[in-house]
Formats: sequence, structure tokens, C-alpha cells
Amino acid sequence: MSRVVIVGIDGMTPELVERWMDEGYLPCFQSFRRRGVWGWLASTNPPFSAPAWTSIVTGCDPGRHGVYGFERTDTLEQHLISSRYRRVPAIWNFLTDIGLRSIVVNVPGTYPPERINGVMITGLLTPSSNSDFTYPRNIRDRLRSEDLGEYELEQLWVDDFSRSYMIRHDPNRLLSRIIRSMSSHARVTLNLMKQFNWDFTMVVLRELDTAQHFFFNRKDLLLSCYEKVDEIVDEMLSSFPDAVFFIVSDHGFEEIKKILYPDNVLYNAGFLKPVHPPYRNPLSLLFSILFNMHIHGRLGVLLNEILSRSDFARKIFFSGSSKSRLIDFSKTMAFSTADGRGIRICSRDKYHMGIVDPDVYEKTCLEIIRLFKDVRDPISDEEVVDDVLRCDQVYGKDAWHPPDLILRLKRGVTAMEWLRSSDSLNGYSEFINRSLPPVFYNDPAGRSGDHAPFGVFFGQGKGIRSGYEIRNIGVEDVLPLVFAALGLPLPENIDGRLHEDVFVEKPRVTRIDWSQYVSSKKVLLDAEKEKILDLRKKINLNGEKYQYNKG
Ligand SMILES: [Zn+2]
Repeated sequence: MSRVVIVGIDGMTPELVERWMDEGYLPCFQSFRRRGVWGWLASTNPPFSAPAWTSIVTGCDPGRHGVYGFERTDTLEQHLISSRYRRVPAIWNFLTDIGLRSIVVNVPGTYPPERINGVMITGLLTPSSNSDFTYPRNIRDRLRSEDLGEYELEQLWVDDFSRSYMIRHDPNRLLSRIIRSMSSHARVTLNLMKQFNWDFTMVVLRELDTAQHFFFNRKDLLLSCYEKVDEIVDEMLSSFPDAVFFIVSDHGFEEIKKILYPDNVLYNAGFLKPVHPPYRNPLSLLFSILFNMHIHGRLGVLLNEILSRSDFARKIFFSGSSKSRLIDFSKTMAFSTADGRGIRICSRDKYHMGIVDPDVYEKTCLEIIRLFKDVRDPISDEEVVDDVLRCDQVYGKDAWHPPDLILRLKRGVTAMEWLRSSDSLNGYSEFINRSLPPVFYNDPAGRSGDHAPFGVFFGQGKGIRSGYEIRNIGVEDVLPLVFAALGLPLPENIDGRLHEDVFVEKPRVTRIDWSQYVSSKKVLLDAEKEKILDLRKKINLNGEKYQYNKG
């Protein structure tokens, strides 16, 4: 067995990697293509970071792991997902069971950190740098430049605000922030890999997602970010030449040409009732004022960062954007998910605030499906929605609390949540005709790219084929590859399949029912160790080599 490293690169786009490799850029990725396996990695549907990363680390589809987006779907109130909300074990839980050690850095949705045999620094959706975001706890105090390295914690929504400001006023500063942040995550990971024993390491470089949201129409800046990623992967590869490396991205990117606002469509048709009229929503007013604050150069960026990172601003963002406060649930039948591509119906039998009775559920679904199929681009009269799918078509019959409907959008069309009135601050036109445009042509936050259905896959190392292009591989198929490279049997009850063609020699694959062992979310008590020894015997790992880190 070899040690295994996953470098997750959020949003790395196969078309761009291919183009730049062919043009002679990205030497490390070129060598991956020559000396390893490479291909396009199918994301989840819709292609979003939280479900896709969760599928990568669990080997399960969203219907089984229960993560469909950043927000929970088992309630109408707005709550972010967390590691406790995930319904199935992740790679590091399985490895903990058999005493293998993991280093896990910056994987979205891993907060609060789990007690694993190893080290964990949580990723996106960590509430703030004041939270306990590491395991063991003392790692947090070691995130200093003279020790493990400074660690830049990404903060949902809060960071988007200063990014949007920088893209308007100082794109080069945004570029340097992105590169600084990526370097910080890479540095800390490399230091952990050098200082701790490990069998499996995973780090997610999240910043390429930011870069592509904002720089998709600035390929010169974007190339600099890809080159930085190439340099980081190269350093990891040369520091640990004995390990098997898998490079994966959770989805790709494409250019935004149109933005559909599903909540506008639902509002116009009377399915969604906001607490405030959309043209008088205090938060959108605040956003408009701050986005349009024209203080150029350093001072503006500085002011903006101080403002948006303050505890006061955090409170406003989180409470002001909370659906529980914006939506009048006593009169709302349906609203969109946070990524905008899912529609949730407020069923009375599922949610205590729900108002849609079971006997009108079907009728409501049909009406909403028809509504979205009829949405047209007001200028070109083209359709923007390709199809509206039922949850069981996308997630299967037994999916756990899926969004009720999924919008499949035409290429170049993206969707965003919540109501948007016209670009002017006062929105008088909406006041007069009381209906909101369903489609816009620009993003108020300055984003030029959004998620696309395919990410990348690269694999290289002992036992991995060289110069081979793999096809039909999806995010849920990554875990089986990691287990095969580690020489472990596959857990039953996962959706991913093992792509044996990745390996030079067909791996010997067995499956075991792991469910009785999984130590996920539990303290490793002495009583557990007997189970572990039993499991190790089954898996044929000798007892002495692996030990637990003291947590
Ligand atoms: Zn992503």
C-alpha cells in the first residue's frame, strides 16, 4: 500500500487546464497527463461545492449523504450544513477505525472538526476565526508564521463582500489576496505533512473557485492563479515522491451570460411572499450603498474589509440574509435553494411552518414546472430553462430531504437566490408594475463565471497507469480509488464504483460491511479498540505499524 494525497482544487476547469497545458503552461499538470491518469470528473447535479466535496470524501451521492448545498434541507429555517449533519462517514472516519492517520485541511463542510486519528483544520462554513476549527484543539494556536504557518480562514458571504469590492476597484489586489490565501493553505498542509505521521492527506485549495467567479472574463489574471496551483502541486509532489496523488475538482466553471432569479419567478406568480417588498428590503439597500461606495485604492479596500469582517457586519449579513426573516412562511408555498437551482416546496407534512397540503402538492409541482419551462429571456425571447426535474429523477427514490425540483439551465445561464429588483437603487418601476424581471444580464457582485458540470481528475504514483485518459468518472468514484491505493477493502453502502483501469494491475477488491465500526463523531475510547483490532484482522493489517495520535 502507498500513502495517498488528495489535492482538491475547487472549480478547476478541464477546458482551461487542457488549453493551457497545450499552450505550454502548467508544467506540473503536463507531467501528470504524461505520467499518470487524467480525465473529466463529473460533478453532482447541480454542480455545487458542498454536495460535490461531500460526495468526493464519502463515495456517496447527495441522496445518501444528505448534503445538497450550503444550507440544510430538513427544515425551512436557514441553517448551514456541518460535519454533524453529514449522514455517512468520510474517508477519515473509516481510516480512524483501523488506526490509519489522516491530515485534513480546508475541506468545505467539515466544521465542527471531528475527532479523527490525525489532524483536521476545517474549511468553508467554519463560523469565524474565533471558533474551534482544528482537531486537536491546540493546532489552532500553532497556526502562526513561526510554527505551522499563518492560516487564512475563508468566511462565507463575509469574504464575498470584500471580493466584490476589489473586483470593481482593484482586481490586482484581489489576485494577490487569492494567491496569498492559497499559499497559506498549502504551506500549513506541507508543514503538517512534514511534522506528523500520516497515511492519507487531503487539502482543498478553495481560492480557485473565487478566482473563477471573479476573473472568468480576465484570463490573464486567472492563468496566474492556475500557475500558482501548478507550483503548489509540484512542491507537494516533490516533497512526497512516494505517495499516490489524486488531483480532483468538485466542478468546473463557465462564463455567465444570463442570470435567472427563480425567486423572482415564484414571487411574480404568487408562490413566494417576502416579509418586506423586494424594493424595500433593508439588506439589498445596504448592499447597494456599500457596493457603490466609490473610495478608490487602498483606503476603499481597507475600509471595506474592516467593515465586512467586523462582528457587527457579520451579524447583519447572517441575520439580514436569513430566509427565516426574509420569507413570510405563513404565505409562501415555494422558494429556491441557496444556489438558486433547486426549488423547495413548503409541504405541511414535512415542515412545521409548511402550508402546502399533501393533496395539493402534486398540483403545485406541476404548476411550478410549467412556470419555469415558460420563462423566456425578455430580450431574445430564448428559453433559459432546459428542463425541470423531479427530485427522484436526480437523487433517487430514497433520497433524504432533497429539494423538490431541480432546474436544468441552458448553457451560459446561471441562477441566483432571493429577489432582485432592477439595478437602480429606488426600483420605482417595480413599485408601479409589481413584477420583477426573471432574467438579468449582469451580477451585482461583479462575478463573471459560475459552476459547470465537469471538474478535473488527475492521478499519479506507484501502481497508477501512465499517459491514460479516463472516461465516465464521477465525484463519488474518488473514495474507491483512495481505498484501492491504500490497499483497503471498500465499504458496502457507497454509490461510487472502482475504476480499475486507473491501476497498472487490477486491484484485488473486496467489500466489507463497515457500518458497525465507523467511529465517526465519537471519541476513540479504549472500548472501541477491540472492534478496531477485529476490523484490522479482517482487513489483514498487522497490529503494530499504526498507532493513534494522542488527541
Ligand atoms: Zn466548488
